[in-house]
Amino acid sequence: MPARIILGAQWGDEGKGKFVDLLTREADYVVRYQGGSNAGHTVVVGDETFILHLVPSGILHPGKVGVLGNGVVIDPASLLKEIEGLTARGIDTEGRIRISDRAHVILPYHKTIEAFEEEREGGAGAFGTTRRGIGPAYRDKASRNGIRVIDLFDEAALRGRIEANVDWVSHWLTRDGGRRPDLDPAALFDQYRDFGERLAPMLADVTRLLNEELRKGTPILLEGAQGTLLDVDHGTYPFVTSSSASAGGALTGSGIGPRWIEDVIGVAKAYTTRVGLGPFPTEMPADLAATLRDQGAEFGATTGRPRRCGWLDGVGLRHAVDLNGLTRLAITKIDVLSGMDTLRIATGYETETGWIADFPADTGLLGRCRPVYEDHAGWQESLSGCRRWDDLPAAARRYLERIAEITATPIGWVSVGSGRDQTIIL
Ligand code: GDP
Repeated sequence: MPARIILGAQWGDEGKGKFVDLLTREADYVVRYQGGSNAGHTVVVGDETFILHLVPSGILHPGKVGVLGNGVVIDPASLLKEIEGLTARGIDTEGRIRISDRAHVILPYHKTIEAFEEEREGGAGAFGTTRRGIGPAYRDKASRNGIRVIDLFDEAALRGRIEANVDWVSHWLTRDGGRRPDLDPAALFDQYRDFGERLAPMLADVTRLLNEELRKGTPILLEGAQGTLLDVDHGTYPFVTSSSASAGGALTGSGIGPRWIEDVIGVAKAYTTRVGLGPFPTEMPADLAATLRDQGAEFGATTGRPRRCGWLDGVGLRHAVDLNGLTRLAITKIDVLSGMDTLRIATGYETETGWIADFPADTGLLGRCRPVYEDHAGWQESLSGCRRWDDLPAAARRYLERIAEITATPIGWVSVGSGRDQTIIL
């Protein structure tokens, strides 16, 4: 494999962290290409649990290099803190973290704007953001007011850009009589110039670095954050993230071309979850969702927020297969479904104008869609000890086979627990 992409095929939290960790064994470089510290991968190594927000989880493997591509937005304070945390737990990060000089940085005013907007939208967490300033940082990038890592080294330009941005943010927030934000451009300049110095040893022209490695045949893993249905172009807009969470984003966000990609792996739960607002056709009734949430520990790794739970959505999965060109699926958390008498898979949606088999662009319509389900017999056995396909109960095998049929995509892995070894490789 020169390059492989692994990404979430649903609304995020699919258990990508575990598979990134597994596939990292076969790669020398692991690259994040979008999002920021709103991602939260949980990786269990032996008795230790690591939650990583920005640093690729590949860093937990000795000798691997973790790369933050240009498509990522970096909060220098939280990145440096994460690196310090890894070092304190005995992970040697020296020379093993490379950061694109083209990546944009998050400043405190991005968080101020996000908090302000969330409140204006109707109360805490209304839009479902993690309030880490990610959305406003991407907005600045698109409107060409952003500050890139490389810009931290041009003192005059940095000072001017910070002053202009703080001025604009203050003007905008006080426009309707709001409180003036507590932002001191001079202090921000000092702080970010200092961040630049601390990040300097990790900076790289990531495009050149990756292309040189690919030409040598070095295996590279590109790791997506969030999930396909949260992609800014292809997801349930506007209830999406601000970046390209699908396979296309892996190319623009890392600076490599499509010719290198040999495999696109979509990670999907055996059911569906979603955090925050937005349409969710297969959402379960509250009592059933509460049971699944407890069994599956469906609470956000970054925010602790309870996740909404629902049945597997075959329509959403087919959408993910098409727009990512998925070559294989990794199905996770099937162990969580043990004990349910009946399992449902949505294969289409009923709308006011008839039956549809595709994920609609109209978010309002998606919200009104009634899933058309097929029902499958469940199983009572615990699956957490299964290590081979034949160890799975017949009903679980049938359920998985049906997922592969509906998506016309082979299943490469089945995960039956959070441990590295709790994985069936097909
Ligand atoms: P990610 O952001 O896609 O990596 O997902 P998270 O890390 O937020 O959530 C995945 C959670 O599920 C983590 O706590 C994992 O340890 C856990 N997990 C992963 N795969 C499985 C599985 O097959 N079964 C169970 N029960 N838990 C799993």
